[in-house]
Amino acid sequence: MAILPVIKYGHPTLRKMAQPVRPEEIDSRFIEDMIETMLALDGAGLAANQVDSLQKILVAVEPKKDMIHVLINPVIAGYSERSETDSEGCLSLPGLQATVERHSKIVVNALTPDGEKVEIQARGLFARILQHEIDHLNGILYIDRADLDTLVWLRDVSEKEVMTEPATLEEVQKAYNKQYHKAVPLSVFSPPKNT
Ligand code: ZN
Repeated sequence: MAILPVIKYGHPTLRKMAQPVRPEEIDSRFIEDMIETMLALDGAGLAANQVDSLQKILVAVEPKKDMIHVLINPVIAGYSERSETDSEGCLSLPGLQATVERHSKIVVNALTPDGEKVEIQARGLFARILQHEIDHLNGILYIDRADLDTLVWLRDVSEKEVMTEPATLEEVQKAYNKQYHKAVPLSVFSPPKNT
């Protein structure tokens, strides 16, 4: 097992569409590495794009069950009209947070690492994590969908408190020396534009 390097905002792979994986191509070693990387970096989810791979694979924690899901070729098959807004961060944009509107409930069809079909019903935080990770597989980042007025840097993070400081998209782009923001609306089916 190995902790894989996580690519950051501005890396071209974060803007690419991940490609479906055939059951016989499923690489369990790579999946174990993705899980180890997510856990080592204290993430709630990780998409293959973030470790510079275009395999359509995500790993995600289901918070209430404290369970790790591995989803191959995940597709959102249904979603609630109802949405909720909460803060998100991303291992590819460390030290930053913003609030994002997401569908409250989603249904995801995918393959398990054994190549079996699976349907996942997710709500709340777990639905949010899956939407964030499926976005990655479609070349979309959470700040593309975020309310940019809520963008903050996390400062002096300790066990007891996290200080925040307002951030602007300009600052973020300067920090990563990149300018490639694309505004994306709520719908999970929106493809990335002009990538
Ligand atoms: Zn992310």
